Amino acid sequence: MDILIKNGTIITQNSKREITKADILIRENEIAEVKKSIKEKTEFKIDASDFIILPGLINMHTHVAMAILRGLGEDLLLQEWLNKKIWPAESKLTGKQIFDGTKIGTQEMLLSGVTSFNDMYIKELDQIAEATIKTGLRGFLSRGILDLISGRDSKSEWKEAIGFVEKWKKNKLITPVISCHSIYATSEEMLLKSKEYANKNKLKFHIHISETRKEIFDCLKKHRKRPVEYLDSLGLLDSNTILAHASWVTKREIRLVGKAKSTIVNCPISNLKLATGGICQIKEYWEEGANVTLGTDGPASNNSLNMFETMKLAALLQKHHYWKADAFSTQKILDAATLNAAKALGLNAGSIEKGKLADLVFLDARTPNLMPHYDLLSNLVYSAHPGNVKKVIVDGKIFLDA
Ligand SMILES: [Zn+2]
Repeated sequence: MDILIKNGTIITQNSKREITKADILIRENEIAEVKKSIKEKTEFKIDASDFIILPGLINMHTHVAMAILRGLGEDLLLQEWLNKKIWPAESKLTGKQIFDGTKIGTQEMLLSGVTSFNDMYIKELDQIAEATIKTGLRGFLSRGILDLISGRDSKSEWKEAIGFVEKWKKNKLITPVISCHSIYATSEEMLLKSKEYANKNKLKFHIHISETRKEIFDCLKKHRKRPVEYLDSLGLLDSNTILAHASWVTKREIRLVGKAKSTIVNCPISNLKLATGGICQIKEYWEEGANVTLGTDGPASNNSLNMFETMKLAALLQKHHYWKADAFSTQKILDAATLNAAKALGLNAGSIEKGKLADLVFLDARTPNLMPHYDLLSNLVYSAHPGNVKKVIVDGKIFLDA
């Protein structure tokens, strides 16, 4: 269906980062035109005079099915939370529960302006894909390989991960990704094999790294290297690698990630909630050339999938950590949640420009918490919440229309 959107205030995220009052023409699933006045007969028309339109937000690290476990195991440190609560509960989850959890989680994301997400989970991947399609989001999905702790042989772990890739690689909304859970849950042999397969098949490679101090100490003991140095020594860092957390790092490790042009995903809320300590230095990652993005992490360790909250907290923590009010600008935060994320996933989105995929979010500009309009980016990062999201278009389809 072709859609003409009239008179919106557009946060374009184009190369000039223009904010402009203009019309948008959507043909099928693409943005066909963005300009002052488009006169075109279309099947559907939206008067956007009272809306701020931004590119769909991209949640770069989550475990969406865990919405079904939301609220389970509060006030625990990461390892305790995993060992005592989450892993035992996950081992009992059925396919139906994982489908329902994904439905809840993807709907929550849609209602809060997220149009794409990068996910890692450990079983029932087909259920996650089906529920994602049902909601209508773009899912970058993977079966996280954890052969050291799953109690299964590495052959069956591998078969499941690759089977999912083969089954879903041609789907319009689902893009398979290769994930290894972490350096403490995945063997060296499997890390190497996974990255080799990902590069050969032009897939993204996703891993948790340097999330806690324990992980650093264990890695130093086992490999005599820090976690990021260890990944580098295995040749696992390049522009197709997505590192979730990467919080406990040295300046040398930040330089290694920057040099490799790898992506890091800052998940500030999950880190704070699980009391992992320290603050991820996204300011320095950015300065060293790493691709900085943002994620919520799973809804059982956050406990929401709210990217507005994540953007705000990420910016505030940088100011606080460096004692510098301009440590990380609102423009950089929005870039991290849109353009940088799209780049990391190889997705033709992240900005509102001719030729890009039609993934758009409409915020009601008249709601009190978004008034007045001195600085729209500041309103977006520091004041907006999911309640301001009134319409969402994903792949040219209108999914929410309030
Ligand atoms: Zn995670």
